Amino acid sequence: MSSLLIRNGTVVTATDHYQADVCIEGETVSMIGATLDVVAEREIDATGCYLFPGGIDAHTHMELPVMGTRSSDTFETGTLAGLHGGTTTIIDFANQSRGGTLEAAIQEWHRKADDNAVCDYAFHCAVTDFNADSRKEIPNIIHDHGINSFKIFMAYKDTLMIDDLQIHQLMEEVAEHGGIVTAHTENGDMIERNIHNNLAAGNKALKYHALSRPAYCEAEAAGRAIDMAYETGCPFYIVHTTCEETLEMVKAATLRNQKVHVETCIQYLLLDESWYSKEGFEGAKMVISPPLRKRKDQEALWAGMNQNLVHHVATDHCPFCLAQKEAGREDFTKIPNGAPGVENRFELLFSEGVAKGRIGLNKFVEMSSTGAAKIFGLFPRKGTIAVGSDADIVIFDPEIQHTISADSHHMNVDYNPYEGWQVQGKTRTTILRGTVAIDEGEALVSRGFGEYLKRPPRNSI
Ligand SMILES: [Zn+2]
Repeated sequence: MSSLLIRNGTVVTATDHYQADVCIEGETVSMIGATLDVVAEREIDATGCYLFPGGIDAHTHMELPVMGTRSSDTFETGTLAGLHGGTTTIIDFANQSRGGTLEAAIQEWHRKADDNAVCDYAFHCAVTDFNADSRKEIPNIIHDHGINSFKIFMAYKDTLMIDDLQIHQLMEEVAEHGGIVTAHTENGDMIERNIHNNLAAGNKALKYHALSRPAYCEAEAAGRAIDMAYETGCPFYIVHTTCEETLEMVKAATLRNQKVHVETCIQYLLLDESWYSKEGFEGAKMVISPPLRKRKDQEALWAGMNQNLVHHVATDHCPFCLAQKEAGREDFTKIPNGAPGVENRFELLFSEGVAKGRIGLNKFVEMSSTGAAKIFGLFPRKGTIAVGSDADIVIFDPEIQHTISADSHHMNVDYNPYEGWQVQGKTRTTILRGTVAIDEGEALVSRGFGEYLKRPPRNSI
């Protein structure tokens, strides 16, 4: 069995912070100690560096079919880019097709990911056509496929959205079998009406994308889903939370002792609605749903982390090249919704969060890794550095400064929303299951190295 010893680093988990040597045998951590008296096949000196658990991004869309095109990262390119930045596990969404089964969606995602993904991966199952037949599939999805999380869309009427009765029934079924429901919370009917009115008035510029999807539409749907989760007793998670109004709904739920899991994404913490008034078509780069919000919302989300209201910072990584975005130059409804982020999330959250004093080191680990691992049943295999856990470790140098650019990133997309941003701290080495995957910017693993992760029912962990 291969062995690797990381000396003199500072181990940081969601709760601890101490200097230690970490010994890895095979794919897992075998020993942690102040000074380990062991000989390993390979030694890495991590003096001056943090050892973080590998990043988990619980919200990505590789090769997602959208509006007649596909998001531009494959499982190969997107997961390799993630590894470069310090992300060792992604959870992607296997989207059911209308008229298709959940099983077919999962098989389709395995076809895309298996033998291609470079980092480890799991799937959420997105339910877009809930009926008596799909209801019957739920226990199998959880117990046989190891997928304990289901996604619903409360927006995208006529394509992805399911109605309140369907949501209620899905929650009953998922709760019974130990799963969790995750939701894109935006009021699809209100948004549909806004879009219709804007197009009728000739308002086709990209800024009307954001104006058609105000924060109260998001908060309304969040409140509704929270109530349905309360009534059915279903564990519940809101994906890509963007605004203060939604957090107010979450706070209100805590007053009746309800737990609501909340994800935000790095772009909602760092970018704002001023993107939509940029010159020309530039703003199309950040046409995403929900849209970017106001500065006060960013402040609420940062505060929400420290208040334990926000539990994970993901990306909703769904990149489209500029030529793909062009499809909507004359009509905002034709711009494919999505933006890149999987490579930059981890380093940006450290730089803008820890280095700027907004969150502490332990909170950084909780937000970038541990929180998602616990919510989705990957912990303690993933999400921490501990004896017996997978040796997914990022050797991170907090002193290195670098600049983000599409010229040097590894994502398969021709722009970067953070172009020119100065970043404090850099992933020096990424270790995945005991193998050095990235070292000083060089990839040492390739296509197919990633493993599919089955996740147990939440009521068994
Ligand atoms: Zn998404």
